[in-house]
Amino acid sequence: MSSNHPRILREHKTIDLMIRIYCQGQHRSEGAVCQSCQTLRDYAHLRLEKCPYQEKKTTCANCPTHCYKKSMREQVKIMMRYAGPRMMLQHPWYAILHLIDGFRKPVELPHKIKTQENE
Ligand SMILES: [Zn+2]
Repeated sequence: MSSNHPRILREHKTIDLMIRIYCQGQHRSEGAVCQSCQTLRDYAHLRLEKCPYQEKKTTCANCPTHCYKKSMREQVKIMMRYAGPRMMLQHPWYAILHLIDGFRKPVELPHKIKTQENE
């Protein structure tokens, strides 16, 4: 079940834009992204669809719930470190909105999801 909330739709779009910047810059892909970036992209979209906060979410980097598995978390960090600053130049509107999303305080979930980090 995926959300049609504009906030979530934009977040899906932001993921696509960032992964494309990263893959074109680092893997020299043209048009479609390479296989490993496609895997990362699918995973990121899936996590977003399953995000318990949905349109109330902060940005993934500021979220107290670590829903990415470790290997994917490392990959997405590397990808964002590269694509983040380039988003400002290529897609400033998405970059600014994403920055604003990051100022949201994470909401308390009715059933608090515990992660290994805060146990
Ligand atoms: Zn790639």
